Amino acid sequence: MKKHYIQFLFLILSVLVVSNAGASEVMVRLFGLRDCSIESLMADGYDIASVDHNRNYVDIVIDESYLSTLESKAATIRVLPESWVRLLPENTDDAGFYLDPEETWAFWTDLAATYPGLVQSPVTQGQSFQGRDIYSICITSSSGPSDKPAIFFNSLIHAREPATNSVLADFGLWLATEYDNDTMAAYILDNSKIYIIPIVNPDGYVDNMTGDNMQRKNMNYTTPVSSSGIDLNRNFGYQWEYDDLGSSPEPYDETYRGSAAFSEPETQVIQSFTNTINPIGSMHYHSYAEGGMVIYSWNYVNQPTPHQSTFQSWASAMTAQNGYQYGRCGELMYPSNGDACDWSYENSEHQTCLSFGVEVDDDGFWGSQNDTLAIAEFCAECRFMNKLLCMNLLGSVGIEVTTEAEGTGILSVTGISPNPVMNSLNFSASVPSGALFVTIFDLSGRQIDQFDVENLESGDCQLNWEIPAGAPNGVYMLIIESSNQTVGSRFTVLR
Ligand SMILES: [Zn+2]
Repeated sequence: MKKHYIQFLFLILSVLVVSNAGASEVMVRLFGLRDCSIESLMADGYDIASVDHNRNYVDIVIDESYLSTLESKAATIRVLPESWVRLLPENTDDAGFYLDPEETWAFWTDLAATYPGLVQSPVTQGQSFQGRDIYSICITSSSGPSDKPAIFFNSLIHAREPATNSVLADFGLWLATEYDNDTMAAYILDNSKIYIIPIVNPDGYVDNMTGDNMQRKNMNYTTPVSSSGIDLNRNFGYQWEYDDLGSSPEPYDETYRGSAAFSEPETQVIQSFTNTINPIGSMHYHSYAEGGMVIYSWNYVNQPTPHQSTFQSWASAMTAQNGYQYGRCGELMYPSNGDACDWSYENSEHQTCLSFGVEVDDDGFWGSQNDTLAIAEFCAECRFMNKLLCMNLLGSVGIEVTTEAEGTGILSVTGISPNPVMNSLNFSASVPSGALFVTIFDLSGRQIDQFDVENLESGDCQLNWEIPAGAPNGVYMLIIESSNQTVGSRFTVLR
């Protein structure tokens, strides 16, 4: 009985913590949790901003008057800079150097007007709870195949994460401006349609231009129950309500999942848009995590998907330059069900879509509001990941690969490295007889190079191919023939 009473008190306190949200909110970092866990803090209704298991801390947004409730919970508590948690007076209404709602719209309409052959004007896909347009932009060239696969990028599903639409504006700008100069930009736009929804949660983002700047959820405060909004990234239909870890049934929690899967107009728009474009891959942008994070499914439970090795190797390559951590949500932070990534990856409504989530390496939610250099830096870090995701996705469609056989006397090719390759491709082959015939093709089937290797011992051998100076970035096929057997493997040239 006593335990229930304490839980009741906690619930009341939790509601107060959230509902008293105002200008007195602070962000604190708890190092070394004591007698509690991330999960228990969430269950108690605390607003978890970021988690880092490696460095052993959790960041929490809390009304200053409730700071004392945290005193016993961690070895050290540090108050984080004010700019992390709110827009400073000079930046309210326009979000400082982040793109506010009007600037985001102006950016994409201007880009479409400047590059009409590549960037299509924004198209409304539906309306938010308060009736604002949720718009998409398509970027592609008029070259290449007629049925190009779609790749989907989106940001600001959580309205207090303004680093994310900056990252996608930067990527769109790079694709459009570099199409004529950069072989990779040309390759991506000649072979795919890049779709971007820069503001998934426009009501929350508009609300954040004033007030406490801490709106994460949508602005549905009334339907069907009184709440402080619905966490759109817990409202998707794959394993929705699987459990209460990182996804709350409590209407005033920051991770409130809503009354039913796809109950919200914003998630319905993303559902129908995704099913229409049927993407081969997607990238879902969030902020923040210090040092950055790349996340892949499953998110609802800490277990690998059938695509674990692909997710892992791509994430490893994507983070090779920026040093972001990568892994499943449950490994890096905490599991959460009903999120956009799991639903995009696996459901019967569209083809399998290799989906990644990113936590941008920003300083808190608003910490770069006066710092263009910091914004430029995290945009560049994410641009490389966006490029590589596109290249990897395009390397996995539209080409036949011979299955590698196993056993003695059977030809196989293994150990392609590095992949992607810049200058020199190394690979190993298991060879049944003393001669090999090697051919390199590009994705359109043009032969790039061809050579023989004679007088080999049968067994494993190491081979090497120097990338010709003029070979453009893209996906290539390595074909090896020996003793009337043929095998092949893809690799990507990226420089
Ligand atoms: Zn988020």
